[in-house]
This record gives sequence, structure tokens and C-alpha cells, in this order.
Amino acid sequence: MAARETFSFQSEGKQLLDLMVHSVYSNREIFLRELVSNASDALDKLRVASLTSEALQSSFSDPHIRIAVDGAARILRVSDNGIGMNREDLVTYLGTIAKSGTREFLQYMAERKETLTPELIGQFGVGFYSSFMVADSVEVLTRKAGEDAAWLWRSSGDGTYTIEEGYRDTCGTTVTLHLKPIENEGDDDEGLRPWERASGEDVADEWTIRGIVRKYSDFVAYPIHMEVRHFDKEGKEEGTKDEVLNSMKAIWSRPESEVTEEEYREFYAHVSKDWAEPLTHIVYSAEGATTFRALLYLPSKAPMDLFLREGDRGIQLYVKRVFIMQDCKELIPEYLRFLRGVVDAEDLPLNISREILQQDRRIAVIRKSLTRKVLDELKRLRDGKRETYVTFWKEFGKVLKEGIFADERNRETLLSLALFRTTTREWITLDEYLEGMKPEQKAVYSLSGGTLETLRNSPHLEVFCDRGFEVLLLDDPVDDFWTGVVETYRDKPLKSVAKGAADLDAPEEKEREGAKEREDAFEPLLKALAEHLKDEVSSVRLSTRLTASPACLVGETHSMTPQMEQLLRQMGQAVPKLKRILEVNPAHPVLERLQRRFTEGGSLGDFPELLYGQALLAEGGALPDPARFARLVAELLARNLEEARREE
Ligand code: ADP
Repeated sequence: MAARETFSFQSEGKQLLDLMVHSVYSNREIFLRELVSNASDALDKLRVASLTSEALQSSFSDPHIRIAVDGAARILRVSDNGIGMNREDLVTYLGTIAKSGTREFLQYMAERKETLTPELIGQFGVGFYSSFMVADSVEVLTRKAGEDAAWLWRSSGDGTYTIEEGYRDTCGTTVTLHLKPIENEGDDDEGLRPWERASGEDVADEWTIRGIVRKYSDFVAYPIHMEVRHFDKEGKEEGTKDEVLNSMKAIWSRPESEVTEEEYREFYAHVSKDWAEPLTHIVYSAEGATTFRALLYLPSKAPMDLFLREGDRGIQLYVKRVFIMQDCKELIPEYLRFLRGVVDAEDLPLNISREILQQDRRIAVIRKSLTRKVLDELKRLRDGKRETYVTFWKEFGKVLKEGIFADERNRETLLSLALFRTTTREWITLDEYLEGMKPEQKAVYSLSGGTLETLRNSPHLEVFCDRGFEVLLLDDPVDDFWTGVVETYRDKPLKSVAKGAADLDAPEEKEREGAKEREDAFEPLLKALAEHLKDEVSSVRLSTRLTASPACLVGETHSMTPQMEQLLRQMGQAVPKLKRILEVNPAHPVLERLQRRFTEGGSLGDFPELLYGQALLAEGGALPDPARFARLVAELLARNLEEARREE
């Protein structure tokens, strides 16, 4: 038998071990996640090897992981019957730290001179070595599949390790941890049944182990056995029994045809903590440069916190069926934040940190392909199950529309997915809008700002409605953002009916002449109105968009809407006061009479102010001085009543 040999850890390993041994880290439980994950990997490796090697075929039988714990002796074991390691492997894998994040991790620690905080270690998870957070010494007894010799690796985390020959009757690995003594042992738990104890502290506690396994390793594809204490109804211990701690239900890795709707629903409740039925689920697997599987759900109802960026319910990240993190925001663009579910990646390291996630190329690839897949599914829903899609849109359309603004690459697709209420129809797509356009109609018209009600009654719509042109009614605050960046849809310009000139089509020659004359005639009145209202409006002009109302306010083609201006103010931005154009309708009796009065030398009095105020009111805007406006209207009423009395 070969004698025991002593080795030194390679230098980075030493530093890392030092950190582990001296850590005062509260989230130590992850050591078990790492060991179980290594065991699961070892089983995966043996499974793959047994497919091609006849000699190994018999080795891969009854694959399983076993956790054993002896509380009194403070020993915890994790064993597997996987691929195992030979002597060289032990030196290479457990004596060298070849992990990509290690150097960065140590450098980070050195630069910041920081102590090991939970956040830090969570970011840099450190595999097998994390055992030294909970153990004084660690033994690894292992035998490689297809070989006869077994080896025993031992270390107390002091910079050296030993290897000697050992004995093991099957291939696989057993990691034995000699646990550190319990800290802060409280006696508050005395008299409680084991499952009633606050089991967060002691990793030798059966209930702590159950909890950790369920939290991190429930979906590991191999059974994780443990001999657990068994109790009768009164809580009296009846001996022990073997139990499988994990459900192994990685339903995302099973073929879709084999999973029932009921199982999908159950899993949705598990990941989303939402007990309502999801609208639909999306199963996706990608192979190639980055291999992953995803199971995503569209909820049927928006949660309260849809607009709050916090909350831990997004998409869970797994790596090879080992849970890595809750709500991994990097996996999907923000405008798809209503999605729930799981992404299980094959090629990511277990120790991937949030910081690294943001720059990781593989994550970017996953995000891109998930986005495409989700948008494809939404298209399918839009075309095949319109009712479901409308339900979805009503809940999450506001969020998806953020993408039109934020995701230039998918802008066209997102525009095609958007549903709109219009002056004549409910929840139509832009393509359906285009189909319904009049032959002479040149643009896609929209009106934004305010509630649906005020939009429907807005004077801005008049000429468009009279011509039979449909207008999109945009009542979400986010609409002002995306309409600011979208100029056209399928080559048709997108125009706001409340901005710019309403140049619907070139008027007939004769009409144009008439218009010119009228403009000349009104010119002095328009000037006088502009002078009166110079603090409120940038100019006053004759309107081509009004047919029933006397006046309205319009913006310059690219100017902000008043709603946007208000929103920005609320967000604390200094926005210069926005002056719009007052458009008046020369065919309206009010303007006709005002014009007559003005040319006959009568004073304009409070009329300009009244005209401006009612234009503001008509579009649902707020008056600068409502009390004053009310007084002017009251005076007007009084005068009108007096005249009516005289006429009678
Ligand atoms: P990682 O698992 O991230 O590679 P670890 O430090 O946890 O890093 O493990 C280092 C290496 O040791 C593994 O890549 C694997 O080759 C080997 N190893 C660890 N545990 C086992 C095991 N239970 N069976 C076989 N090999 C193992």
C-alpha cells in the first residue's frame, strides 16, 4: 500500500482556504449545495461515460446521492456512486483551484481589504472549498469508475493536504466533514419537537439539511437519500427510515408531452407564489453555443408590484438543475418582467455572481434567444387565441410597450404585438388599423394623454372623425415615450392629431383660394388674440382639424405632450413651460361673432381667456386658475341671461 503523502495547496488555493476557515459567514448552508452539485455532476459524468464505454456500463446503476449525519459525533457525509477520482484527479481537482472566478475573487478581496460578507461569498461561491466554512477537517474517499484503487484525501484547511490509499467497494466519492462546534448554542429550543426548532443554525440538524436540500437542490435529477429519524403521532421517536429529500421534479427538463397541465400549474404556483391559473406557459430548449432549457409562464393577472422594480419573483436561474438564484433579472429584458418561471443553463458555473451575470456573454445569448422565443409565442397567441391575448394585453400591455421605446432591435415586432383602442374599434393591432385605412388616408393617427373618456371627446379628433379616419387612443403614460421614437410603421408615418398641422390632403384649388381670403380676413383678430394670450400660447392660427368646437390647443410636431411635461415635473425635472398653439375654428359661431365684434371695433374683453380655458378643459387639461375661470363663466352667464330677458 502506498504511504501517506503530504502536498501543499497551490498558492491561490491557500488564500481561498484561509478565507473559508476564518469566515464569519452566515449563509454557510451553500456548502451543501456545492457538494450535492458536485455529486450530481459526477453522476452525470458517469452516465455519459457509460454510454460509450462497455466497461463502465455496469458501474452506472442505481445512481444516487446520500447524505448522512451524526449529530453527536458532528460528522456529515455526502456520497455518490458517480465517476469518482483517482490519485491524479485528486491532486488536479482538489489541490489546484482552476476556477475562473477565483483569481478575480481574491483580487477583489485584496483590493478592497474587505472581510468576507455574505454578499461577497454569495457572489463568488467557491465549490468544494466552501466545506471549510463549516468543517475543521474534510476527508474525501473516492474510487474512479473502471479502476480498482481507492484514495483518501484529507485536509484541515491549513495549507496542506494528504493522500493515501484507501478502500471503497464501489466507484464514487464520499466527502466527510468533521463539523466545527455549534456557535451560540441557545437553550430556547429545549422541549420543542425537532421540526419546531428554529433550525437555521446547525448544519448537523436533520431539519436544516432538509430545508437546504429543498431550497437549492430539489430539482437535482438523482435521488438524495437520507436516513431520517422517524416519529409517531405523539412525537415519540420510533427509529429511522430512509427518505428521499428532493422531489427531482425538474419538469422543465421533461418532454412537454409527458407533463400534465396539472403539473405545469402546480409548478407555476411553486415558482410564482401565485395561486391563480397562469394564462399560458412556454417551454423552450436551446442547444448550441449556450445550452439551456426554460419554462416560462404568463400570469393571468398583474401583481400589485408590477411597476415597482423590487420583488423576488421573476425568473429563477438554475445551473444543471441546481438552484442558483431567485429573480435573475439579467435573463430577460425589463419589459418582460411579468414573466415567471425557470431557466436552467448547462454551461454556467455554479458560482456565477450577479456582478458577473451582467457582463456574461452567455447570459446575453440566453436573454436574446428567450426574448425572441417569448415574442414569437406572443405573436402566436395574438393570431391564434385572440381572447387570451386581449386578457394578457390588458394586464401587461403597458409593460410590453416600454420595449417599443427601449428595445430598438425588436421595435417592429413589439409594435406589431401592441393592441389599441381607437375611435371606432377595441383592441386592434396596427396591421388591422392599416387594413382599415381609407385610400386617401396618409398616416396612422393617434391621440395621447388623458383618460380614454377625455380622449374620445377631444376636439382634436373632429375633422378626422368626420373624414372617417380611425384614430388610436393612447391613454397610457408610457405611450408618450414610445410615440416619441417611432416615426413610421410599415412605411406609414405615425402622427398625433394634437400636434403639427392637420394637413389631411391637398385642398382643391378653389378651396385654397377661399382659405387664403379667410386667413387674411382673420389675421388682425388672430394677432390680437395672440397678444392677449402671449403668456399662455406660442401663436394663434386657423384650424383645419376642428369642425364642431371653437378652439383647441396643438403642439409642435416634435414637442412634448402636456402629460409628459407633467410627468417629468413630478419626477423632479426642471422642464421649461411648454407653450402650444391655439387653433381656432373660423366656421364656429363663437369665432364668427368674435371676428364681427373685433372688426366693428368692440373690445375683446375676457373672451380670449375664456376661449383658451375652454380649449384646455376640452382636452381634459387643468386650468391654471380654475376659480378665475369659473368667475368669468358666471359673469358671462349673467350677461347672457340679461340679454335673453331683454329679447323676450
Ligand atoms: P467545481 O465543481 O465548480 O468544478 P469544486 O471545487 O467544487 O469546483 O470541484 C473541483 C473538481 O473536483 C470538480 O470539477 C470535479 O472534477 C472534482 N470533484 C468534486 N467533487 C467530486 C465528486 N463528488 N465526484 C467526482 N469528482 C468530484
